[in-house]
Amino acid sequence: MAKKLPKIVKEIRNNPPPPINYAYQKNISYSQMSIFRGCPHRWKLQYKDKIKRFTSSIHTVFGTAMHESMQYYLDYAYEKSFAAADRDIDLKEDFQSRYISEYQVQYKKNNDSHFSDAVEMREFFEDGVAILEWFKKKRSRYFSKKGTYLVGCEIPIVVAPNKMLNNVLYMGYLDVVTYCETTDTFKIIDIKTSTSGWNDYSKKDENKQFQLLLYKQYFSEQYNIPLDKIEIEFFILKRKVLDPDDEKLMSPYQAYRVQQFTPPSGKIKLSRAKNAINDFINECFNSNGKIKEADYPKSPSKWNCNFCPYGEDKELCGAKQHFS
Ligand code: SF4
Repeated sequence: MAKKLPKIVKEIRNNPPPPINYAYQKNISYSQMSIFRGCPHRWKLQYKDKIKRFTSSIHTVFGTAMHESMQYYLDYAYEKSFAAADRDIDLKEDFQSRYISEYQVQYKKNNDSHFSDAVEMREFFEDGVAILEWFKKKRSRYFSKKGTYLVGCEIPIVVAPNKMLNNVLYMGYLDVVTYCETTDTFKIIDIKTSTSGWNDYSKKDENKQFQLLLYKQYFSEQYNIPLDKIEIEFFILKRKVLDPDDEKLMSPYQAYRVQQFTPPSGKIKLSRAKNAINDFINECFNSNGKIKEADYPKSPSKWNCNFCPYGEDKELCGAKQHFS
């Protein structure tokens, strides 16, 4: 028999935020802020000028399918039991169908044109199956039902970060949120996919950390939960079991497919994340919520331009040529 849900979990499930009214409200997201902080000109091309470019890749297809399979498995396990999930869900099949259908969606968006080949697709598929098989065997290290409940997967957050510009709303979806009744604490888990995990450089990347810091802040505001009752964690799924710092194959004892990383999230760190989003809003939006007519400077660098979809278009920017 399913366990009775704690009142607070029911309240959260039954009270999603009201949807954004795009007639007078604007939504911003972590990825918008992250693009702006990398290069304001790129942000302007994408969000102000609305110049669309295809940005998917086999990495994003893989990431989407992995998220969906993991979330489906967790939803099922917390609703019924882990034994039932293991018995009823063929994770390989589930992942395969999500992987193929996501590829087809992106293929259509790319004007019916391929952006991967059979060899690469097979490699990513086999990596995904290896992750899921490993996770299924070791799942009890990471998830348990003892005193713990799944609040949900893809929990929506809609909050006005800047009370003076309250038509600009931060919108995000929390991958997985659990609630531990014994300690009365929540855990927000963000699933990432990665080639071989995060090294020290990635872990110290403040831009990456801001995503979970903002989720913690806004989950707290949206549901009136004290900050010290919210934990956060990046749950990083590794396609290859290499040591992220020196790229050597790890021993079978170290070869974990999952890397957990909890960024510091005390008051100072949270203030830095909130300041970053407020600076972004103040620089880009008017009091009526419209995007400002302003100078959005280019910020060329090898890192920024190599991953920028406008990098080769000389009319829009073309800065990539200086870094190839
Ligand atoms: S190519 Fe570089 S400078 Fe130009 S918009 Fe993209 S990131 Fe910015």
